Amino acid sequence: MNKATRKAIIAGNWKMNKTRPEAKALLEEIKPLVANAQDAVEVIACVPFTNLETALAVTEGSNVKIGAENVHFEKSGAFTGEISADMLTELGVEYVVIGHSERRQYFGETDETVNKRTLAALQAGLKPIVCVGETLTEREQGITEEVVAKQTKIALMGTCEKCIKNVVIAYEPVWAIGTGKVATPEQAQDVCGFIRKTIAGLFNQEIADGITIQYGGSMNAANCAELLAKPDIDGGLIGGASLKAADFNTIVQAAVNG
Ligand code: PEP
Repeated sequence: MNKATRKAIIAGNWKMNKTRPEAKALLEEIKPLVANAQDAVEVIACVPFTNLETALAVTEGSNVKIGAENVHFEKSGAFTGEISADMLTELGVEYVVIGHSERRQYFGETDETVNKRTLAALQAGLKPIVCVGETLTEREQGITEEVVAKQTKIALMGTCEKCIKNVVIAYEPVWAIGTGKVATPEQAQDVCGFIRKTIAGLFNQEIADGITIQYGGSMNAANCAELLAKPDIDGGLIGGASLKAADFNTIVQAAVNG
């Protein structure tokens, strides 16, 4: 399948940034800039839980979709501080980032909990953006493919063929996130292509050809066009550059043109 037939997705990951008035202002700025992307590119802002309701209200009727940055795998119960998938869908949230490397690194997220969260999200009707990626040490040891294959396989364990169409994979080399050290377009393409092959092995070629695979890791206005031009890179998960409307829009427009 040709890249042009896959859904291109540019998603901002705001991390722990922006109060509600700041979130409103940023989204008001982004909305008109990206309005032309409507049919070509799905534009998403993944925002802190406290901003979800504001973000949904501000973007209502626009082509900017809203995502959460995490979700718990249990439906309800004694899990102080956690948010369930049903709570997100009830608000009107469509996407959720799962297994971001910061969650793996600082909050004990494992491949197994990533899998549980992915299944819970899908069951509730959310579209998970599942993050995978190797550390610098793993890349230097030459085990990038091994690591990424394991993360992808475990994350998708138990996912039905119908549900997998709602999954987005974000390849995010840990060494490139928030560091300014971007993967070369060739490095990013190699791993995104490998992830597609892994998904073909898990399901079939048709499913693998249809799944959106993003690159994330210091993608910005200056380097996005080259990355997004690669055949297996269908979009981006953007941290720092998603907090500046003009930069985020440059990335969206590169995806429209890519
Ligand atoms: C991210 O948070 O997923 C990310 C890729 O961050 P940055 O773009 O800042 O590297």
